[in-house]
Amino acid sequence: MKRLIIDAHLDLSMNALEWNRDLRQSVYDIREREKKMHDKPDRSRGMVALPELRKGKIGLVVATQIARFVDKGSLLPGWNSPHQAWAQTQGQFAWYKAMEDAGEMKQITNKAELDSHVALWMNDAIDDSTKPVGFILSLEGADSLINISYLEKAYAYGLRALGPAHYGPGRYSPGTGMTGQLTAMGVELLQEMDLLNMILDVTHLTDEAFDQALNLYKGPVWASHHNCRRLVPNQRQLADDQLRQLIERGAVIGGVLDDWMLCANWIRGASDPVKMGANLERLVDHYDHICQIAGNSNHIAIGSDLDGMFGKEQSPSDLETIADLQKLRPLLLKRGYSESDVKKILHGNWLGFLQNALKT
Ligand SMILES: [Zn+2]
Repeated sequence: MKRLIIDAHLDLSMNALEWNRDLRQSVYDIREREKKMHDKPDRSRGMVALPELRKGKIGLVVATQIARFVDKGSLLPGWNSPHQAWAQTQGQFAWYKAMEDAGEMKQITNKAELDSHVALWMNDAIDDSTKPVGFILSLEGADSLINISYLEKAYAYGLRALGPAHYGPGRYSPGTGMTGQLTAMGVELLQEMDLLNMILDVTHLTDEAFDQALNLYKGPVWASHHNCRRLVPNQRQLADDQLRQLIERGAVIGGVLDDWMLCANWIRGASDPVKMGANLERLVDHYDHICQIAGNSNHIAIGSDLDGMFGKEQSPSDLETIADLQKLRPLLLKRGYSESDVKKILHGNWLGFLQNALKT
């Protein structure tokens, strides 16, 4: 039995444009085509494509636009001006629209579109393989907004969620691996997002910017792809106190399936998923931890990140492709979650959050 799954973090357009992956093809065809390529660590090991999303009944995703600005001397990949970064995100948007024109995807920007799209996916009389994968646009890292006026342009084409930071320094906020507050532009960005009632994604914020953002921001807040610092100690993860603050705000936290965030002591490029015991059980450990703090299962969901610059070499060993996310249901039932908890985790918590956030 397959239940609808909502995945709140995939970098589909980055894969299409920077990895040159035609995501209309199956994961297996894409792997075959990349067999002799070595330019990226995850070549021929991709986990995500549109046919596999449909096969796994992952009918709705939060899909990113992502482009970093890098200053002189930075070793991070990125663009040398915000203007180039903006143009990159516009190419990414053009790809999503081309997928929409091809009937492969469907952009969701408000509650009416959300409800009718979910009704389509809940209708088991229609074959899932014929349904478009819904997407809600999110910007991961705000560097590409040349100035605040570009937020309005982005909102106009359907951007509904935004995480000001990514890895390293940022024009609006420092991110993962850094310390420090939002920049002056970052504070202004949050004010503008509030006016538009956008969703603030706290993922990748520094601890200082996290506190500051939660104090400043009045609108809906989520953590699209985040696990627990208590289980895997790293600043990239959420500390217990941050989890408490998010739960108090009614946030939903998307459990992420990048092995280094699932298992302590993972060494990128060296550790092996099977030997490390990196499997879906580890995600449930993180879920359990959050549920113990919350006293319920209302704040956990999926933000897989399964195409976030890694592939099978750094994914849970029990996933061959993203379609295997359906394995979570029996696993959760085995771990003592009820059928109604499972529904909330697979789609209900995101859906309720989105129905509220997109209602205006
Ligand atoms: Zn990320």
